[in-house]
Amino acid sequence: MSDGKGKGTRAVHAGVKHDPATGAIMTPVYLTSTYVQSAVGEHKGYEYSRTQNPTRHALENAFAELENAKYGLAFASGLAAMDTLLKVLEPGDEVISTNDLYGGSYRLFTTVFSRYGIKFHFVNLDDSENALDEVINDKTRMIWIETPTNPMMQITDIQAVAKKVEGKNILVCVDNTFATPMLQQPLQQGADVVMHSVTKYLGGHSDVVMGCLMLNDDALDEKLRTLQNSCGAIAGPMDSFLVLRGIKTLHLRMARHCENGRAIVDFLKNHEKVEKIYWPGLSSHIGHEVACRQMSGFGGMVAFTLKGDSLADANKFVESTELFTLAESLGGVESLIGHPASMTHASIPKEVREKVGVTDGLIRLSLGVEDAVDIIADLELAFNAI
Ligand SMILES: *Cc1c(COP(=O)(O)O)cnc(C)c1O
Repeated sequence: MSDGKGKGTRAVHAGVKHDPATGAIMTPVYLTSTYVQSAVGEHKGYEYSRTQNPTRHALENAFAELENAKYGLAFASGLAAMDTLLKVLEPGDEVISTNDLYGGSYRLFTTVFSRYGIKFHFVNLDDSENALDEVINDKTRMIWIETPTNPMMQITDIQAVAKKVEGKNILVCVDNTFATPMLQQPLQQGADVVMHSVTKYLGGHSDVVMGCLMLNDDALDEKLRTLQNSCGAIAGPMDSFLVLRGIKTLHLRMARHCENGRAIVDFLKNHEKVEKIYWPGLSSHIGHEVACRQMSGFGGMVAFTLKGDSLADANKFVESTELFTLAESLGGVESLIGHPASMTHASIPKEVREKVGVTDGLIRLSLGVEDAVDIIADLELAFNAI
């Protein structure tokens, strides 16, 4: 739990205690599957590494501290975290989700959990009041919010949604991957569970796939830990170590990602080949007002369309950069460029993705922490190629 320290201080120190055996300042990587018992049932709190591992334990405490939460749980991937969380539901239960969301989340909902009797409604939670009224009913047990969304950067008012369902036995869950705890703390806005694809900003160095959940409720934590142990999609000790190291610079990286976001948007705004820019820091952005209220910065994820919206131009553009790497994923220190329609969102049907704006000409940037002038020069190169 937070002891009132600043977010940066927490990022540096979260979850870490010096190793009592040696004084090592960094948490050791406990590469062990099992633990010695001095007599039957007598051990030091660790029996088997699916259930608990000291490196993962330190990281789970760090996750909790970052979101000002009571509990943190670490999983093998962001989708594994979601998979475990969805298993608290029963057949017949219903989930309301944002309609613009990470393609893998959409696939998990529609191709896996829908087969187990869970019904999903996808609505535009930009306009949370009206959209929720249309689909909410007495079977609704979960609201899945991604804010900002991937890749359209839609914003949902977390507090408004939480207020709306207060006292209704509905879990309000927020995918906080894009904002990170540095820019947005959903539990303070009334959400029940926060999820991250740790693979992205929390890890921050494009070297780990991991996910996490943070929450405050004792009974839900108990349920999730039982599921985590029963289903087994845990984070490994080496990955846990890498993420413990990564989050020490989360505040510094996020500050630079935000700075680069602003600089690159200013550049794109004035470019004659750009049609529309999606970034919550723009006053013209549909969710700008709410973003100003619930976020302390607007991040380094920027999407834009080229004039003409042609697939050929978009493909040429993303293949013409040198500093930007054409790749899936986001949130690392290096800048990545992507074409959502054929990459991250290929698993969403064309008519569905186009309805939310993922057209053939949409390009997504994950701005790294390089110097803005070099990022801009690289984008110039790509503009000149089309
Ligand atoms: C990447 C991502 C996920 C899935 O996480 P993995 O770690 O790849 O399993 C979920 N939500 C968002 C917003 C993401 O960007």
